[in-house]
Amino acid sequence: MDLLKASFKDIAGAVQGKKVSAREVTKFFFDRAEKLDPKLNSYIQLNDKALDEASSLDARIVKGENVGPLAGVPFGIKDMFCTKGLKTTAGSKILANFVPPYDSTVVERLKKSGVTIIGKLNQDEFAMGSSNETSAFGAVKNPWNTDCVPGGSSGGSAAAQASRLCAGTVGTDTGGSIRQPASFCGIVGVKPTYGRISRYGIVAYASSLDQAGPMVSTVEDAALSLEVMCGHDERDATTSQRQVPRFSQNLKEDLKGLKIGLMKEYMTGSGLHADVQKTVQAAIDTVKARGAEIVEVSVPLTEYAVPMYYLIAASECSSNLARYDGVKYGHRAQFESLGGVDLEDFYKKTRGEGFGKEVKRRIMLGTYCLSSGYYDAYYNKACQVRRLMRNQYDDAFKKCDIILSPVTTSPAFRLGDRISDPLAMYLNDIFTVSTNLAGLPGMSVPFGMSADGLPIGVQLTAHHFEEQKMLNAGFALEQSSSVKAKVPHVY
Ligand code: GLN
Repeated sequence: MDLLKASFKDIAGAVQGKKVSAREVTKFFFDRAEKLDPKLNSYIQLNDKALDEASSLDARIVKGENVGPLAGVPFGIKDMFCTKGLKTTAGSKILANFVPPYDSTVVERLKKSGVTIIGKLNQDEFAMGSSNETSAFGAVKNPWNTDCVPGGSSGGSAAAQASRLCAGTVGTDTGGSIRQPASFCGIVGVKPTYGRISRYGIVAYASSLDQAGPMVSTVEDAALSLEVMCGHDERDATTSQRQVPRFSQNLKEDLKGLKIGLMKEYMTGSGLHADVQKTVQAAIDTVKARGAEIVEVSVPLTEYAVPMYYLIAASECSSNLARYDGVKYGHRAQFESLGGVDLEDFYKKTRGEGFGKEVKRRIMLGTYCLSSGYYDAYYNKACQVRRLMRNQYDDAFKKCDIILSPVTTSPAFRLGDRISDPLAMYLNDIFTVSTNLAGLPGMSVPFGMSADGLPIGVQLTAHHFEEQKMLNAGFALEQSSSVKAKVPHVY
């Protein structure tokens, strides 16, 4: 079996059928990560217990146990997910030595289905960023061109997956952090409907927007991972009670009868890189050829999506990040003696040392938006417009099943290019944030290549809980993708 090309089904079938051991598979990816990752910086930490965990899985298989649909599939986990006994930093100095006493629900469910954990993946600090340059553990590089960013905030997941330094990864998406890096690195990234996947044990950024999802090599692997990850969790009251479909078994590439919407606001082309435009056009031609009907839809309030998002995300983060005070856990500033140090000095020094520049910017912006006198003008207003935009999406989905659009305005940009201009960085998210604001499922499917040899994804968005339709459209596009199954070897 060529492990660089093997699907989850291939690996799990071979491991469960004792044709290869989970230990051998894990060792293959672990060694690869150890050897190649220094060039990418996609891992914050490798799991030194990975091989032992794989061996215990093998022992259970020898005893005749069925260890699950992802038997022996090695995953890298974004460092936002709590992993029992394994450091979880959220890319921040303030959590640099935090070892959680429990697993997040996502990790628990992956483990229960047979996954082994190779290590924890790099990310923007607290998932705030679009380029993976804000991590306290250094920037991640794009494996297709190491002078370029992998996209953020799940840049470690995207880079590691693209170069197969693990077989699968998970990321989180608050405003595009699964889809954008998936597009920049040529992998499949899915953000399901808000409420499909439990947020329990995921470091909180902006709770009304955060959602986890798979970042993997194929749509089938994404479908299979979703089956494992999705579903009600009593520890997260926002999770849905709905039945989780057998996504992977229902995949079909025939799009007859499917209506694909092109959003007027996203298709005007202004500011869109020519290679992205070409890729989206090729995707439209492909879905048409596969039987889909193209219709025009409009969601006018997406014009305000970026300001709405940055007001809401910053407000919620300022509240969520108040817990990092150096008292209960995480980084604590050192003082010669605590005599004469008041609580305010203690907080200031601890938080001043522990948080990076971008996180501080968001906390300040959010605190301002939530302060009395400004709450109604900013946070509340943004929430009201959010609701109206969601209604407009409901109307748009009366006319179509899926909305097809670009993921980003350009292919991966160069490291250092936008990091000193926050506004330019925020505008990267123009096509992705409205999906989170409306709670919709969205995905990025690798489809085209830029003239400079960088992958470009296409974004598909569906109505709430319509992941199956979205995955099917993604599956259809994947068949004609020019990025499919190519592992970059440039670094
Ligand atoms: N780039 C956006 C931000 O910085 C989205 C991040 C995310 O989805 N986690 O907030």
